[in-house]
Amino acid sequence: MAEELHCIGCGVLIQTKDKDGLGYTPKAALEKGLETGDVYCQRCFRLRHYNDIADVSLTDEDFLRLLHEVGESQALIVHVVDIFDFNGSVIPNLPRFVAGQDILLVGNKKDILPKSVKDAKIKHWLLERAKEEGLHPLDVVLTSAKNRQSIKEVIEAIDHYRKGRDVYIVGVTNVGKSTLINAIIQEVTGTKDVITTSRFPGTTLDKIEIPLDDGSYLYDTPGIIHRHQMAHYLEAKDLRLVSPQKEIKPKTYQLNSDQTLFLAGLARFDYIEGEKQGMTGYFENGLLIHRTKLEGADAFYDKHKGDLLSPPRANQLADFPPLVRHELTITAKSDVVFSGLGWIRVAKPGKIAAWAPAGVGVLLREAII
Ligand code: GDP
Repeated sequence: MAEELHCIGCGVLIQTKDKDGLGYTPKAALEKGLETGDVYCQRCFRLRHYNDIADVSLTDEDFLRLLHEVGESQALIVHVVDIFDFNGSVIPNLPRFVAGQDILLVGNKKDILPKSVKDAKIKHWLLERAKEEGLHPLDVVLTSAKNRQSIKEVIEAIDHYRKGRDVYIVGVTNVGKSTLINAIIQEVTGTKDVITTSRFPGTTLDKIEIPLDDGSYLYDTPGIIHRHQMAHYLEAKDLRLVSPQKEIKPKTYQLNSDQTLFLAGLARFDYIEGEKQGMTGYFENGLLIHRTKLEGADAFYDKHKGDLLSPPRANQLADFPPLVRHELTITAKSDVVFSGLGWIRVAKPGKIAAWAPAGVGVLLREAII
């Protein structure tokens, strides 16, 4: 029997027979890969070279199996979350599977938050949010995997808390888990970009084992898809337009009640009741924010979605879910969060309505800033 080969990008088992299946690699490409020692599946090859994405989906059972495996291991669990999208990046039900196990929380994409916000404040905030989710991490470390900031601290914390045990790195897709593991490998070994990273959710397919020097392993697990992420409703091109790549410049709008802000055509914020106040938006710097009167907002959206209010673009409107209204009462300084898109900070009491595509989460939380 032939030796089993795994893609060095995502860890999937390589096969040359089923073109649409996981791990497919054309024979010729495989032979070439064997010569150079770099065997990639076609999906990772395309991702690396063309930023192209082939549709492959993992089943819910696979994720449950994975969580059970993690839960039964005696390992240290490193849960990577995206600081910018905390609620969209905690693994749903994780506490149920890992009760009593040691968890280290890593908050990634620190570079996106305004530099004026202190690390200690973000850490404390993350810890509070984690507790709300039923997670009780031993510690929180902040990092920016992309900019290779604080990678040493992450490695030191892992080493300190694992006490000779294996390590499982878990996270939903798009939190930057692959980027982080690549940065860790590079820091430790000096080798660049071994694991496939991309801006598209669901890139890491199978568990990847990275040997540690005391005979334990660091396991990179597949990214778990969080269905409430905005990312699942956007094409790659548009996702790039709404995902912050660098420090966000907050924008403040003095709003009276009966005014509306459109966040491109993706979401909407209505100020229904309350005194005039400054509302601060934390979104990708290039995201179009359009202010209008609440009264005509429905008609305005119908008329302009796909052109002035874009993304979504005109040719995508048929597939784009309708905006769903969530009415919220603000009592203390809070963030109104549009999962995966960003948030609006509201400082004073009032009543608002937040609209997001059906399926995308909206929530009210204690303000991060
Ligand atoms: P995974 O699905 O969790 O493995 O995520 P990836 O590592 O593929 O990263 C997803 C996206 O987030 C990519 O577009 C990365 O460039 C981006 N990303 C990863 N780490 C960081 C970071 O520290 N800061 C910022 N701004 N973006 C990041």
